[in-house]
Amino acid sequence: MAANRGNGIDTSTVMFGVFGDPVAHSKSPLMLNRAFEVTGANAAYAAFHIRPGTLRDAVNGIRALGFRGVNVTIPHKLEVVDYLDEIDEHARAIGAVNTIVNDQGRLKGYNTDGIGYVRSLKEEAGFSIAGQTVMLLGAGGAARGIGYALAKEGAARIIIANRTASKAEELAAYLSEGTDTEGIGLEAVATRIDGVNLVVNTTKIGMHPKIEECPIAPELIHPGMLVSDIVYNPLETRFLREAKARGAAVHGGLGMFIYQGAYAFEYWTGQPAPAEAMREIVERSLTEAAL
Ligand code: NAP
Repeated sequence: MAANRGNGIDTSTVMFGVFGDPVAHSKSPLMLNRAFEVTGANAAYAAFHIRPGTLRDAVNGIRALGFRGVNVTIPHKLEVVDYLDEIDEHARAIGAVNTIVNDQGRLKGYNTDGIGYVRSLKEEAGFSIAGQTVMLLGAGGAARGIGYALAKEGAARIIIANRTASKAEELAAYLSEGTDTEGIGLEAVATRIDGVNLVVNTTKIGMHPKIEECPIAPELIHPGMLVSDIVYNPLETRFLREAKARGAAVHGGLGMFIYQGAYAFEYWTGQPAPAEAMREIVERSLTEAAL
């Protein structure tokens, strides 16, 4: 075992973590430990590999061990809803939790993915959502949170295009409470993309290591639209490069990751998150890994 180099952890340290499977690639420990360091909190954040069938015990462990907070990632965001004492109304509507706050043994679940995305879209791309026509590529968990947040912000129309068209239709039906929606297969994108102001890739396409893939034919991108990709490894996906080359504005996925973590930090500590320091350390780590 490595010698203890005096990492500052002591009997008063407040514990945090992320539950996922897999979790070894997660940048959350790097990001949140940096946030605690910058704000001077006596706190530590670690990654926990929670295998299928053990999530209930892991959540009980939060109570038993007195962790203040936990992030939940793939594949546990849906199942964890069943093991908490209270679910925030937005997380309940989305049906998924990515942040747990422990208030003296009472666990409350939140979802910071959608609001993290919207904050990033506004602050980094200067995009105002009200009245816009949006196309979401993908209909998985991320699309659900993002679609919900965009509808809340007043998007006029949301078209969901997914490889499995039935899932796009299901998500469209769910989001139709908040706005005008349509669900289509990916092959029908060409017939609907005129008039789209914002197109968002929420699929895994383009993610490391298959970095040369693009979710739609690049010829369909038109100048005047904002092309957004929530994949952040690599920081600039092929989809974004193609969009730039065609004169479209672009928005990368790192901001969503930073802000979902920033909101979690704020729920746990009640303090503003040091978002720039969080971004800087994650960006550096992704850039170094790509070299
Ligand atoms: P998910 O629930 O598993 O959904 C995956 C989606 O990708 C589905 O719509 C699926 O279509 C589609 N897809 C997967 N492989 C495909 C392929 N080869 N061709 C076409 N479509 C394909 O996953 P998720 O949680 O929504 O995450 C999706 C992506 O978002 C991941 O890359 C993740 O890293 C990223 N993400 C980023 C952030 C951030 O903070 N920036 C946060 C959350 C997620 P089918 O329905 O047809 O299978």
